[in-house]
Amino acid sequence: MNILLLGSGGREHALAWKMLQSPLCSKLFVAPGNAGTAAIAQNVNLNPNDFQAVKALVLSENIEMVVVGPEDPLVNGVYDFFKQDAELKAIPVIGPSKYGAQLEGSKEFAKEFLVKHNIPTARYESFTAETVERGYAFLETLQAPYVLKADGLAAGKGVLILSDLEEAKTELKNMLVDAKFGSASAKVVIEEFLDGIELSCFVLTDGKNYKILPTAKDYKRIGEGDTGLNTGGMGAVSPVPFADADFLKKIEDRIVIPTIEGFKKDEIEYKGFVFIGLIKVGNDPFVIEYNVRMGDPETEVVMPRLKSDLVAIFQAMANEELDKVAFEIDERSATTIMIVSGGYPEDYEKGKVISGLENVEGSIVFHAGTKLEKDTVVTSGGRVLAVTSYGNDFKEAIKKSYENIDKISFEKMNFRKDIGFDL
Ligand code: ATP
Repeated sequence: MNILLLGSGGREHALAWKMLQSPLCSKLFVAPGNAGTAAIAQNVNLNPNDFQAVKALVLSENIEMVVVGPEDPLVNGVYDFFKQDAELKAIPVIGPSKYGAQLEGSKEFAKEFLVKHNIPTARYESFTAETVERGYAFLETLQAPYVLKADGLAAGKGVLILSDLEEAKTELKNMLVDAKFGSASAKVVIEEFLDGIELSCFVLTDGKNYKILPTAKDYKRIGEGDTGLNTGGMGAVSPVPFADADFLKKIEDRIVIPTIEGFKKDEIEYKGFVFIGLIKVGNDPFVIEYNVRMGDPETEVVMPRLKSDLVAIFQAMANEELDKVAFEIDERSATTIMIVSGGYPEDYEKGKVISGLENVEGSIVFHAGTKLEKDTVVTSGGRVLAVTSYGNDFKEAIKKSYENIDKISFEKMNFRKDIGFDL
């Protein structure tokens, strides 16, 4: 079957790589894609949020399945767009409905869902410009640090964690009254700070059944020792060594099962990935956030560990038969290290020629911010390449990635040398 994958990052290259291993995939289109996807599939230069352009492509290329990488098309309703169009409604879209996508698109919606279905999460209240005074009073009932979250999508920047009460009040006003994050902060969720270690759990669902993918931990900060500015992610490790069988059972019983039951009870149509951001407090898991798609760079370690046919799994999801499909996980560890442009996550230059990719041995290089200029691969974003390796444990895998990174070069390239340092 012909398949269309929307998106252009390392996540999409990893999904494309995995889907192309399936005998069910005859031709894969990636829109807009990058230099990595261009080498294995057909890139199409269109904006994934332009649903009319997506429709035209689907019809002209006889596409029979659409897989959505990033959150925006989902939050903007690509699933519903297909279901409501007479010519498209039979074509499965892998992702949640627009209503379900609010789990990521609105922090308040997610918190209400969590509380309603008794899923462990931090205590919270939400406020608007009209109730800012009540927000100050709520802050006074909490202990430092204070967690303020813009309700809407804010490109990963909408969460502030502040140690000082007065500063927290000022920022609350900035967000609500002065629109610090535009309309995304017209509502703000204030929540209790949870002190623990973070990890992510990934679930596939057809809205009724579920399969749990391997856990992963990513490294968000630009600097070694988890210091400096936040990034999209500088590396990831799977499985997470501190998530033992006992802890995974708690995640399944307390979080995954009630989440899927919640979809059924609330009639949320959801045939896609659920990314559950967790924090381990003592020995108990709490939900920090839901995302309605895979993480990047977590996909670059999770997909390589999935042994079964991903397209067959997607088909089973479309038919609400996820309980009937083969689902096998590779026992080995996988790690990925992101190579980024010098200066990222602040200003950086693009268009740097990348050399040495052909010398990589024993690792998989997933492209993120790359593009082809004539026949040369050049940088085109902050995060450029994700170098993924397998190992009998995460240390062996990390060592292999670093050995291969030494063979790759472009001007001002940067990467963290301590991925896995805390495990
Ligand atoms: P992302 O960067 O994943 O897109 P986001 O902007 O959607 O994040 P959250 O994941 O909700 O927002 O929060 C961002 C980060 O803030 C979390 O990864 C976590 O480190 C921290 N955080 C959020 N909520 C809490 C909390 N209640 N207690 C402690 N830390 C928290």
